[in-house]
Amino acid sequence: MTAEAPILEITELGNPILREQTKRIKDPFAPEIQHLIDAMFETVIAARGVGLAAPQIGVNLNLFVMTPEVQHSPPHMTLENGIAIINPEFKAIGTESESDWEGCLSIPGIRGYVPRFCHIQATYTNRHGETVTQEFEDFMARIFQHEYDHLQGKVFLDRIKLSKDIITDKEYMRIVGALEEDEE
Ligand SMILES: [Zn+2]
Repeated sequence: MTAEAPILEITELGNPILREQTKRIKDPFAPEIQHLIDAMFETVIAARGVGLAAPQIGVNLNLFVMTPEVQHSPPHMTLENGIAIINPEFKAIGTESESDWEGCLSIPGIRGYVPRFCHIQATYTNRHGETVTQEFEDFMARIFQHEYDHLQGKVFLDRIKLSKDIITDKEYMRIVGALEEDEE
């Protein structure tokens, strides 16, 4: 791992690359792929995100990075513990799905109430070239499905059932604040 990966500019909604189907990575060991993974970790950590897909930094490849564990802001992802996911596939385990609020570094200022499968089984190649089969649940499954969508040229807005389920960050903070007060 290189120590000096750059922080990259994040593409935003309207950039055509966010709407493209990405290409499979043939050689995970290629230095440019390894360097790209490092730069994506640097970028998502700097942006305090929990996941980042290659199209979000302008690269049309089948790759995303995500946090290793469920966490709340600020995320605790580091260069050492983040997961790099190459050429992923997944299937739902069961049919249960749940809606919750999502945001996206490429759609600043907006949140949406998005249905996702609660439990999935993912298969992907990690940065060491190993094939990994892993189950994700709840928030982790949500992150995986959000990032996977980016690789198919989709964003979370495409999954929202009603336009009233799109709100601003400011209102989202008000809702979350109210919920947390309720819990106390
Ligand atoms: Zn996103």
